[in-house]
Amino acid sequence: MRRDFIPQMEPWFDGRELRAVSNYMRSGGWVTEFKQTQRLERELAKFIGSKYCILTNNGTVSLILALLAVGIRPGDEVIVPNMTMIATANAAKLLGAEPVLVDIEEETRCLDLRLARQAVSKKTKALIYVPLNGRSGDPEKIRRFCRRHQLWFIEDAAQALGSYWQERHLGTFGDVGSFSLSTQKIITTGQGGFLITNSDDFAHKIRRLKDFGRARGGIDLHDSVGYNFKFTDIQAVIGLEQLKKLPWRIRRKREIWRLYEKLLSPLKPVKLLQTDTSQTTPWFIDIFVADPDSLLEFLKQKGVGARRVYPAVNSQKCYRAEGRFPVSKKHGQQGLWLPSGPELTNKEIKYVCEVIKSLYT
Ligand SMILES: *Cc1c(COP(=O)(O)O)cnc(C)c1O
Repeated sequence: MRRDFIPQMEPWFDGRELRAVSNYMRSGGWVTEFKQTQRLERELAKFIGSKYCILTNNGTVSLILALLAVGIRPGDEVIVPNMTMIATANAAKLLGAEPVLVDIEEETRCLDLRLARQAVSKKTKALIYVPLNGRSGDPEKIRRFCRRHQLWFIEDAAQALGSYWQERHLGTFGDVGSFSLSTQKIITTGQGGFLITNSDDFAHKIRRLKDFGRARGGIDLHDSVGYNFKFTDIQAVIGLEQLKKLPWRIRRKREIWRLYEKLLSPLKPVKLLQTDTSQTTPWFIDIFVADPDSLLEFLKQKGVGARRVYPAVNSQKCYRAEGRFPVSKKHGQQGLWLPSGPELTNKEIKYVCEVIKSLYT
């Protein structure tokens, strides 16, 4: 069955989330974060393979907490790739730190380490690496780079839940890994995010920071300044149901990528990046064409949702940074996200590819 309009992405729930929320509300829970949130944290840590997981309001807040935990202060510099969701750079801005934009590499479309070397200054305190669309460069190299330059290594793995490097989950290589559970991501709780770390110290700091700086729960004694970046148990029961579906969604997203790749690779004007689906779970299907706006419009007329990829961060009005960023510029100008939800049927994917083919032949 093909729907009248195939969305680029939509959250996907069924009766399981409905029952979980209904059961939870009947159980007389306090709704704010408590046992269900702790359960989801344990399950996420187990799935990813980290010692700690701490849930937060969203992936932006997670990044802010990660930067606070490693001690980023006003005036510090943080290296950020010039191609990412804007939140990566904005998180540093909120703390009065300066995101230093660095171009991406052609192959992975992630931060180019050779260029990052030139961007390190005395003020640089951290590097945020973004495994864009689940693809990553060698995280061990990034770790060595950060150690050599005495930088904290934060992974913004918001698009990498279900993606690995040599069988090890992305987000686990840095000092702290940050994830998002927003409606666009592979599993969602509406809003939501989480941090993972193996460090007792960071886990402790982050827990205090997200709960007003309380020395421990339930008392109003504050040894340090903190905020309210807490989750809710209603979201957690939804998250627990979503997490059960994650292994299937990972398999399906990989299959969807391979089907698109098979159907689109004979088309010369359409470029797909080399993607190893034994490790990478593409979050979105990203393709590159000379004129993405015409394709977007054509797809819309044929009942297919698509979306332009992010513009390069330096080209956004709120940054307008000078400098040469040829790879991120090209990526932003040519990229388009095709329908990418795990609920897509093969028939729908074939239809989308037929439409694209009809435009180019
Ligand atoms: C989605 C996303 C974020 C922001 O997450 P929110 O939960 O929407 O705040 C940050 N970084 C990247 C790379 C993302 O894809």
